[in-house]
Amino acid sequence: MDFADFPVVRHPHAKFFHGFCKCFNRSTRFGYNVQLIAMRILLNFCYNSIYEECAVISARTSHVITSIYNFKKEQLVLINYHPPKMLSIHKSQNIKRGRLIIGVLAILIIAIFNTSARNAAVARWVFFDVGQGDGILIITPGGEQILIDGGPNNKIVTDMGSYFPFYDHTIELMILSHAHADHTIGLVEVAKRYHIKEALYPGDIENQSAFYTAWLAEIQSVGRAALAGQTYSFADGSRLEILHPLKTPAARPTDLNDTSVVARYCYLEVCLLLTGDLPQAGEKELMRQGLKLKADILKVGHHGSRDSSGEDFIEAVKPLAAVIQSGTGNSYGHPHAELLQRLLSHDIKILRNDESGVIEIVTDGYRWWLAE
Ligand SMILES: [Zn+2]
Repeated sequence: MDFADFPVVRHPHAKFFHGFCKCFNRSTRFGYNVQLIAMRILLNFCYNSIYEECAVISARTSHVITSIYNFKKEQLVLINYHPPKMLSIHKSQNIKRGRLIIGVLAILIIAIFNTSARNAAVARWVFFDVGQGDGILIITPGGEQILIDGGPNNKIVTDMGSYFPFYDHTIELMILSHAHADHTIGLVEVAKRYHIKEALYPGDIENQSAFYTAWLAEIQSVGRAALAGQTYSFADGSRLEILHPLKTPAARPTDLNDTSVVARYCYLEVCLLLTGDLPQAGEKELMRQGLKLKADILKVGHHGSRDSSGEDFIEAVKPLAAVIQSGTGNSYGHPHAELLQRLLSHDIKILRNDESGVIEIVTDGYRWWLAE
């Protein structure tokens, strides 16, 4: 197997590694998966190019890097790395301990680089278990992060840490769906700890709560009002489009839920629709506008309230799965039984944070699946 057999994936750090790769005699070209390049550098450095074969098989399973090194003749080391839980090494009798240690170190270093790219060919949608509230992280195939809402406390700060490489403290886009506490509070601390490149929030709202003004203060230099039609296109081919608030709302919102930012993120053919706490009246307005709403995954509005995710809206979105972000034993009775029944009657798979904890969906742009 040759390196040329591996899929070429543009990675934000590929250019950096490209400089190193020039030192080695095998040809390299810009765009290699960072795992492969890092592996080449490390193995060349450690073994002076004695390896003959190297395979990284994880583009789809992505949690598992399976690397096979054929170092010398019959000596075969098979190293399975399952970040972050398990590192196991099989069949290494003929390998000197020193080499093995270096090899393991190499894999660990690669794994650290790999954190940003777990894996570069997939997008990840993480729905954190923040209790009664919303907190969603999108990781694009290129390793950029979009954070939508932060939950009613600071739990998300800890939970999202493992989804960022150690060297990455930048959130490319932070979106506050609306200014209620169960969406805003966690974002204040996140904004303090991370470099926020850009932030979106519902403009023109009257809310002077301490947490909202604290958040606005943190993002003031990079924040702007969200408006339908704004789009973000990423180099990896994924795209985020803002569908709400509308440029000319039918009426000035009196309820903050009505101001919810609605965003649709697509990677190739697979889409996710995020609706904040938008009630059914807002959903109908979106449909009246003739906006493209179809999505494989719907983050249902307002934590599974009966007043969101109306029958006609569900038919317009046609989701295969619905994520409900609600807290165990919440005082609102979310998710409401009527809403659950509505989803079930459309054969929609229901994913609930209160039952499953963190929910992570992975897509390669054609299929999607739940991360293990
Ligand atoms: Zn809410």
